[in-house]
Amino acid sequence: MSRFETDAIRINASKSIQREHSSPIYLTSSFTFDSAEEARQMFAEEIEGNIYSRYSNPNSSDLIQKVCAAEGTESGIATSSGMAAMFGSIASLLQQGDHILASRSLFGSTHQLLTRIFPKWGITSTYGDISDFQHWDKLIQPNTKMLFIETPSNPGLEIIDLEWAGKFAAAHNLILVVDNCFATPYLQQPAKWGAHIVTHSATKYIDGQGRVLGGLILGKKELIKEVEFFTRQTGPSISPFNAWILSKSMETLAVRMDRHCENALKVASYFEGNTEIDFVKYPFLPSHPQYELAKKQMKQGGGIITMTLKGGLARSQKFIDSLEMVSITPNLGDSRSIITHPASTTHSKLSVEERAKVGISDGLVRLSVGLEHYEDIIQDVERALEKSK
Ligand SMILES: *Cc1c(COP(=O)(O)O)cnc(C)c1O
Repeated sequence: MSRFETDAIRINASKSIQREHSSPIYLTSSFTFDSAEEARQMFAEEIEGNIYSRYSNPNSSDLIQKVCAAEGTESGIATSSGMAAMFGSIASLLQQGDHILASRSLFGSTHQLLTRIFPKWGITSTYGDISDFQHWDKLIQPNTKMLFIETPSNPGLEIIDLEWAGKFAAAHNLILVVDNCFATPYLQQPAKWGAHIVTHSATKYIDGQGRVLGGLILGKKELIKEVEFFTRQTGPSISPFNAWILSKSMETLAVRMDRHCENALKVASYFEGNTEIDFVKYPFLPSHPQYELAKKQMKQGGGIITMTLKGGLARSQKFIDSLEMVSITPNLGDSRSIITHPASTTHSKLSVEERAKVGISDGLVRLSVGLEHYEDIIQDVERALEKSK
């Protein structure tokens, strides 16, 4: 394979007899067979080919091949949303009685999966704190089968040492699953450090323009075979249109991420030390508690910044309402800058204590730094800080 940028552009799963240069959209539920015998052979997996779009489709294959090349993984499944990927990766690989060890700082819906949904089927989990890695082996139970982590975490921007996680999972015979949504494969490739499964919400940076939902489950062939059995039968398939959008977006992921990271670092540096803000957190600012670790495993710091405003809930809401350009919406990874107040929205289902444990205070706002000119982003934030005093 070639370099990241080239693969993301040049890998194409198929070309039709029309010899198109840009991939068409294959809006078809099923695929035809030349004969009854060919149908039998494909169903028996004696020959490869598309059968039905719940199983595979040229557009989803395109997307999977590109992201696999980017992540350095052998095989994958594309799903209808990021949460379908999180659910599918766990539900397909674990069974009743199994236990998951997870990092405490997880995406809100992933937290709901682990605490409210999987326990219904006898799959339990325990959270470990990143301040206390030396003691994680005490959290292992005889039935622990999976280590599930997110790094950087949403929205706390906590960094988990992937080298440590890979070794820990190997030592305890755990399946290591890493939600790589915030970093994208351009900034960090967890499989290099021993992750068995890498999951994505492709809705975020992989789309990059806030248009479609999508998810990915990537990893070693034999594990993905089990995931594929599960997804084929349960049907969280991605639509060909969404897969086409996301595959096209992969072509620009590297240039977009370069600019997201460049803008985010400039905005974070500008506001660090501002008297209206208690703390500006960004993985590539030396003030980030895990700056060295972020530098070790990430190419750049990503596009997300958090700021803890002075004045708690009232202040952060006034600040958000004072922004003129930055959008108020729960998405992230968009070309347009976005502000979110996690405590009252994405993480509102967590109790106050649960939020406190993962560093989500009422004054915390999450800024997804977009691709606008960085000076316009700074100006909008600065004006809103002034107006909300
Ligand atoms: C958004 C997000 C998800 C869920 O993805 P959807 O595409 O919205 O279903 C999972 N993990 C992280 C880290 C996310 O940011």
